[in-house]
Amino acid sequence: MCVATTLVGCGSGSSASSAATSSPAVVSTSAGGSADVAAATTTPPLTITVAPAITAGTVTATTETTTTASAATTIPTTIPATAPPSTTAPFTDAATDFLGEEVIGYSVQGRPIVASHRGTAGGTVILVVGVIHGNENAGLAILDELRTRPLPPNIDLWLMDAMNPDGLANDVRGNGNQVDLNRNFPHDWTAVAQLGEWEYSGTGPASEPETQAFMAFADRIRPSLTLWYHQDLYRISPSTRSDGPLRERYAHITGLPLLTVSGGTYTGVAATWVRKTVPEAMSFIVELGPTLTSPEATLHAAAVLDIATMDRAIG
Ligand SMILES: [Zn+2]
Repeated sequence: MCVATTLVGCGSGSSASSAATSSPAVVSTSAGGSADVAAATTTPPLTITVAPAITAGTVTATTETTTTASAATTIPTTIPATAPPSTTAPFTDAATDFLGEEVIGYSVQGRPIVASHRGTAGGTVILVVGVIHGNENAGLAILDELRTRPLPPNIDLWLMDAMNPDGLANDVRGNGNQVDLNRNFPHDWTAVAQLGEWEYSGTGPASEPETQAFMAFADRIRPSLTLWYHQDLYRISPSTRSDGPLRERYAHITGLPLLTVSGGTYTGVAATWVRKTVPEAMSFIVELGPTLTSPEATLHAAAVLDIATMDRAIG
């Protein structure tokens, strides 16, 4: 988790420490400690109807021997009221839409970087990264939700718990070389800070094995939308680019404020690299609060799938 001294280090977003520390709204709604319940009960952030659990689980046993695609088309489920009117295919069920798990590379300290894959192969590719700064791990609960929720049709979902497994294991921001991986990507890379400092960008663009592994992976799967979880500024930065409406929708569903993030040196940022590398790609950072409750994780997972569908509608 970010502590006060590292607030400005979160995200590419990271932050104006002044805003984070002086705004009562941020403090009172950032789901910290006992504020969780109050925030959840006094500021209901949305009106979205969470997609109901598919009740067709009992039929999956009869379709297990068929291909994923055919199984998906034969599950007799009901389209939720929140689904787009144009939807004709059913939601897919985690019991039948698992497409595999890959080790996309290894960290400095030899830990595997794992991506799991579910949904509809060939559909809109969505990539969700839980942890890039190792001491910001609240997003893992959202990925856990996304591993099991029914998926809208034609969503090709990749879930990467940790791009920085060393940082996660050691509860530190950087990787095994103490590099801030969110300053290490080659787009607009510059030498930032020194070894031992929180924004240390490494010895050169994409100098780190985790960065290289992610780049090769993203270049292969070509995600239409990539989401990155950080802490703990409790906001999403607004955008005038094509992903602006998706950011607004995500913020609306989760109750996160749309607020600009500043205060760091935002070069070599992963989300930006994706946008600059994959044509038409949308990629943005979600700054969670210091903690994330289980109901909040559920909301975030619903938001991911909501804008995944929105992304598809936009094309
Ligand atoms: Zn961060």
